[in-house]
Amino acid sequence: MDLDFTPDQEAFRAEARAWLDAHVPAVPLPSLETAEGFAAHRVWEAQLAADRWSVVSWPEEYGGRGVDIVRWLVFEEEYYAAGAPGRVGQNGINLLAPTLFDHGTHEQRARVLPPMATGEVVWAQAWSEPEAGSDLASLTSRAVRTGGGWLLSGQKTWSSRAAFADRAFGLFRSEQNAPKPHQGLTYLMFDLRAPGVTVRPIGRLDGRPAFAELFLDEVFVPDEDVIGEPGQGWRVAMSTAGNERGLTLRSPGRFLAAADRLLNLWRAQGSSQAARDQVADAVIGARAYQLFTYANASRFLDGESIGPESSINKVFWSEYDIALHETALELLGEEGELTDTDWSEGYVFSLAGPIYAGTNEIQRDIIAERLLGLPKGRR
Ligand SMILES: Cc1cc2nc3c(=O)[nH]c(=O)nc-3n(C[C@H](O)[C@H](O)[C@H](O)COP(=O)(O)OP(=O)(O)OC[C@H]3O[C@@H](n4cnc5c(N)ncnc54)[C@H](O)[C@@H]3O)c2cc1C
Repeated sequence: MDLDFTPDQEAFRAEARAWLDAHVPAVPLPSLETAEGFAAHRVWEAQLAADRWSVVSWPEEYGGRGVDIVRWLVFEEEYYAAGAPGRVGQNGINLLAPTLFDHGTHEQRARVLPPMATGEVVWAQAWSEPEAGSDLASLTSRAVRTGGGWLLSGQKTWSSRAAFADRAFGLFRSEQNAPKPHQGLTYLMFDLRAPGVTVRPIGRLDGRPAFAELFLDEVFVPDEDVIGEPGQGWRVAMSTAGNERGLTLRSPGRFLAAADRLLNLWRAQGSSQAARDQVADAVIGARAYQLFTYANASRFLDGESIGPESSINKVFWSEYDIALHETALELLGEEGELTDTDWSEGYVFSLAGPIYAGTNEIQRDIIAERLLGLPKGRR
């Protein structure tokens, strides 16, 4: 395997770096978990999109540059190294868009993707329900047939950014008597401001409304907003879940940049031997994750799929992220705990890593059963 970048890839990196140098806001934007921050991040998305940097891997007709996954990884490294703002459109870009590329119609792609790329329409993921998280197939929200479409009823929860987002995508039970729980589900897109939708924000540990509960009472959705065949929602959703855990949700760029910031913090503090070892572990971990991801990307470009290996990624980056932030807080001492720094916000967020995108207990089961061939655990 060749670990060097080609001249073309290097040229792409230089172009991205130059653009980011010229455009990343000098003063960080307000937290995107506030109304003001959400609006500011939409403006940033529009700026990225104007020069085709918001969705580099998408085809040009939808606002992208049509680059392959290696260039996408390169872009992400530059993006995080530049300290650029968090991506308010990430649920749509990372989860819904790949689903539409695989299962959507041309009309859906043409209608949904361009305003997603510019941040004009921000999407929320509405999968989880109060009694259906890890066991997603036990969901009970319903889609009932009506003239020209469907009526959605039920409750969704933990929907990130839904407090300020525009639209959502999720799974609904469209056949009440299907023989198995994951049969008879339909994947639909719906408007968060449609009649019958109530969005109730949920505060995070720091009080900011990073999530929302959604209450749906006979919300009308036209047929054109069904993704894939009615009743086949599980199959459609599983391709999204693979993307989420695998390559796209947490690119190594984020951790390389964080490890770099940690190293600078350690240098500035001139700290102890013990901290030095933890900082070294963080730097090595980021690099290891980067190499593992490039290896996966190469397999992907050779026509292989990522498959259950994506669960290894998910367990690794989520535990790594917590360790990295704990080291930073140790270095900062009381200041880290008491002030509203990037490190303290990052730490609070890292705690959720082993839960979202499928809990690590579930990922470990997948690794044990599907990769190591161990017997099924007791459920
Ligand atoms: C920061 C954050 C953002 C999120 N964003 C979204 C979002 O945008 N949209 C959305 O739809 N959802 C979102 N979620 C919800 C998330 O997907 C669920 O929290 C997750 O799937 C776990 O489901 P649960 O909370 O119902 O926990 P449960 O499924 O009730 O699990 C509770 C505990 O039991 C363990 N457990 C359950 N079943 C098994 C088993 N069979 N074997 C071993 N252990 C098991 C779990 O691993 C966990 O530790 C988000 C969550 C967080 C924390």
